[in-house]
Amino acid sequence: MSPHRLRVDREKSKVKDEDVIKTVEEVFDSFTNYHIYRLKNTMKAFRELRGTISAGKEARVYWAKGWKGEDVAVKIFLTSSAEFRKSIKNYISGDPRFPSLPSKFRELVYLWARKEYSNLSEMAKAGVSVPQPIAVSGNVLVMRFLGEGGLRAPLLVEAARELEAEDLERMLEMLIKDVESMVCRARLVHGDLSEYNVMIWEGRPWIIDVAQAVSLEHPKSRELLERDVSNVFSFFSHWLDVSEREESLRRSLEGCLESR
Ligand code: ATP
Ligand code: MN
Repeated sequence: MSPHRLRVDREKSKVKDEDVIKTVEEVFDSFTNYHIYRLKNTMKAFRELRGTISAGKEARVYWAKGWKGEDVAVKIFLTSSAEFRKSIKNYISGDPRFPSLPSKFRELVYLWARKEYSNLSEMAKAGVSVPQPIAVSGNVLVMRFLGEGGLRAPLLVEAARELEAEDLERMLEMLIKDVESMVCRARLVHGDLSEYNVMIWEGRPWIIDVAQAVSLEHPKSRELLERDVSNVFSFFSHWLDVSEREESLRRSLEGCLESR
């Protein structure tokens, strides 16, 4: 599978690098620039930002180079979105891992970034395929880059039309195992799982975007899990007969939820 084509102009990469750094400095406030600086120079989590991968409402993702020349992904959460504030609160209060909420919005976003970092670590430890987290400081998270040469891997939604039924079967099987490990071993529910938050790389699915993942004790965990499972199967049902597998996963997850 070829990485998703992005407008990364290798010929002009020097000019582009400077553009990226300038844009980053203009877009982000001095706090964010401090955390970028700290991750680079003190924590040595990466060496330089190279290109923009994604610019969403709540976060930006950049391609960066590590000190050993490896690719890394740098996710910067925006500290200026009002909607973000509400959604953060909904996914943090009720999670026993975070007993108190900071009153300053900036601190809340820092907590959100640390939550994505710890969710990634806990999931990786449980055997779920997620990008390995590398470091976090303030609202900036550094993790393994999925893709190569600055070209990100395709999302499941982009890759699916190029996959044969046989490959889709394998992807679904691997995703089912990952959801089981996430719930039964990491005791976490993703909360925003869909074909848009799964990347296809090295012949397998990788689950991304886990900041909102909640522990099983969270009051909304069941409802969120229900939606995650429905999203996955309704996507694959365009090509495959999934009903048996869906039932069997729901049964096995029910078992894990009851053994609390
Ligand atoms: P959106 O609202 O656009 O979904 P988000 O705030 O939810 O953004 P993510 O889903 O984590 O953030 O990342 C946004 C995009 O950045 C992803 O859809 C993917 O294309 C890319 N991306 C995220 N993590 C990585 C990674 N580790 N390696 C390569 N690309 C990544
Ligand atoms: Mn996403």
